[in-house]
Amino acid sequence: MTTMPGLRELNSRFPYKVELHVHLDGSARLTTILETARRRKLLLPGDNLEDLKKSICVYHAKSLYKVLEAFTLFMPVIAGDGECISRIAYEFCEDCANHGIRYVEARYSPHLLSNNEEKPEYATEHGDLTPREVVQIVNDAFERGSKDYGIIVKSILCCMRHRPDWSDEVVALASDFRSASVVAIDIAGGFTKENIEGIPEGHKEAFKKAKDLRIRITAHAGVDGPAASVKEALDDLYAERIGHGYHCLDDPDIYSEVKKKQIHLETCPVSSIRCGSVLEDIKQHPLLKFAADGINFSINSDDPLVFDSTLVDDYSLALEAGLTDRQIISGIFNAARSSFANEAEKQKMLKDLEEVYGPGF
Ligand SMILES: [Zn+2]
Repeated sequence: MTTMPGLRELNSRFPYKVELHVHLDGSARLTTILETARRRKLLLPGDNLEDLKKSICVYHAKSLYKVLEAFTLFMPVIAGDGECISRIAYEFCEDCANHGIRYVEARYSPHLLSNNEEKPEYATEHGDLTPREVVQIVNDAFERGSKDYGIIVKSILCCMRHRPDWSDEVVALASDFRSASVVAIDIAGGFTKENIEGIPEGHKEAFKKAKDLRIRITAHAGVDGPAASVKEALDDLYAERIGHGYHCLDDPDIYSEVKKKQIHLETCPVSSIRCGSVLEDIKQHPLLKFAADGINFSINSDDPLVFDSTLVDDYSLALEAGLTDRQIISGIFNAARSSFANEAEKQKMLKDLEEVYGPGF
């Protein structure tokens, strides 16, 4: 049996990383959540780090709903609290720098992090922030963090699958803040009985508007949804990249379209297993086929807080699945090329990557 390399060794083997799919709220530090709860006098399922970890972190293969449920445990503490959101965004930059992530696109829902009256009732009596104020706070913290830690941090604003009525405002915010850190929009959240049939019109109209405004687009699809959800994201939401996308493999036509058009798949190995999106047997992971078939993929962490992981845990799992170092490095180059960075940033990133890993990727 071969022993998997330690995380420290992996960090030095892959010193320059690019990450395109990570949720800001799913990356908060447990200490920050705990301290904020104490300050705001809010209850958490545990009043020390160990208990909190046990309640929030998802370690075994479960389901997307289990993972989304974990968010409901700590989101009430974060939502609507500017001080906490700013701290999470700034600490996110520090954590990325510590893990060798030199360019990152972090995503979040301005609505879920705000405290508008449409919010789930748990947060209505705490804090007082609009979605616009949330974006401003995150942008400011990212700007400070990028500068202090010498990395590039962009943000992607998420529409939520179950709330098509929020999407118009998400598009407006992405348009208004595009000169700051905001580079794109996304659609996130689980499928419900109501929306499994297809994407609601409200989202379609908003994404059309985004396309017309030349806002870049990525979309969660093919995670727990079928291959058709990937097709739908490409055709109806104009997605240039797909978050996860594993189930495009279930339909040969859709898979060959993804391959032919070199649609970028933002894979998240640890998340895919813990969310029950793919089979638990890592040797059968879709990533293996993606890499072998020359699919444009990257490796990402999704929700390091919830999975108690870091990006190298995902690299480690990819290696366990059978990917080579070279294929992982290709994934990093793919991420740089398919990022929503501006052209100058992209060229600089690719030049830096060549210096670190050599040419030919
Ligand atoms: Zn995600």
